[in-house]
Amino acid sequence: MLDPAVKIQIMNAVDKAFDDQTKVLADLVRIPSTRFQEAPAQDMMARLFKEDALSVDRWQVKIDDLKHLPGYSPHSLDYDDAWNVVGSWRPSSPKGRTLILNGHIDVVPEGPHEMWSRNPFEPAIKDGWMYGRGAGDMKAGLILNVYALRALRALGYQPAADVYQQSVVEEECTGNGALACLQRGYRADAALIPEPSGGTLTVAQVGVMWFQVKVTGHPVHVYKADAGSNAIESAYRLIQQLRELEKKWNAKKAHDNHFHDHHHPVNFNVGKIAGGDWASSVPSWCTFDMRVGVLPSQTLKECRQEIEDLIRHAAKNDSFLSNSPPTVSWEGFQAEPFVLQNHEEARGVLAGAHQTVFGAELPDRRSTGTTDARFFGLYAGLPALVYGPESDDIHGFDERVNLESVRKITQATALFIAEWCGLQKV
Ligand SMILES: [Zn+2]
Repeated sequence: MLDPAVKIQIMNAVDKAFDDQTKVLADLVRIPSTRFQEAPAQDMMARLFKEDALSVDRWQVKIDDLKHLPGYSPHSLDYDDAWNVVGSWRPSSPKGRTLILNGHIDVVPEGPHEMWSRNPFEPAIKDGWMYGRGAGDMKAGLILNVYALRALRALGYQPAADVYQQSVVEEECTGNGALACLQRGYRADAALIPEPSGGTLTVAQVGVMWFQVKVTGHPVHVYKADAGSNAIESAYRLIQQLRELEKKWNAKKAHDNHFHDHHHPVNFNVGKIAGGDWASSVPSWCTFDMRVGVLPSQTLKECRQEIEDLIRHAAKNDSFLSNSPPTVSWEGFQAEPFVLQNHEEARGVLAGAHQTVFGAELPDRRSTGTTDARFFGLYAGLPALVYGPESDDIHGFDERVNLESVRKITQATALFIAEWCGLQKV
């Protein structure tokens, strides 16, 4: 157990560097790192790891390395510019328990800039919140991992066991960046992922799947106004039927150990739609992209089957679609649901750190979204703890992260590392 005096020193060391930490976070938010543009932000992460004298492993994510692995999500676009970066601390005579600190560098599209109060990539601080795309999800987490370790070093300590700081791509659409870290061989006794969780520990998360429905063909009775059948309207009817399936899946929560008291655990989202050519032609094509949630009590395979069956069945009763059945393709997230396991020991250490900083018990949370934790948990058997700061409107406009919560989670993370890995004098 850590000496109480050392705990206080560690928390003070975090406070002392916090202005600097905030500036570095703003620098990272300022680098737009939406999908396919992560490289410059990864360069910055590599620079930070180098400043800390970590050994830096930077490699290009390749589909051929991953496509045969469990947890892989199909991706048709190239990975030419997708680089993972890992900064490793390896003590000369290791003692304690090893640790992966993981975060994702990719951010979701910022949407129309006029919907933001300010430029999404020009971070601003107001009333204790930092605004900007990615500030909460999850650049604050990546930077707090760096500063938690810096606080220990500032006191002349290093972790007594291996610590791998991972900055990965593609968390927001496939998870293949985290999978690439497993493929490369990184393992530890626990993984800690500071996704914005508001100081809670995620004990269960839903699965997530993406698919695209393509409606194409020649509309019947194109000259008859009353035929009333066109690709866009048919797609719309399909979406309505999928909404019914969403209700059915939510009803399954009654038998789900983790989400039975959640008001609406399964969310279907039509994220993108396109179709038709101009106003005076009956549209002959329409595509829509959907994201669906999957309960831990369901499997991806049975859910895929249900969706394909629903679309096949709906097409039979539709004047446009019966002529030309729609196709369903599964690309992007095929993320299995994940329930935290093997975690009693790690949870105990994290709860202790949380208690020291917040003076309260560590609350559990069930998440209706996915994270990269599933890779470490499902495919490597690690306790994969998702525990991070408070944020708001992630994936929306005016995304922000609460700086006071970032400060406290940095303290709790530093205490967790110290207790989990043990400390050595440099
Ligand atoms: Zn995230």
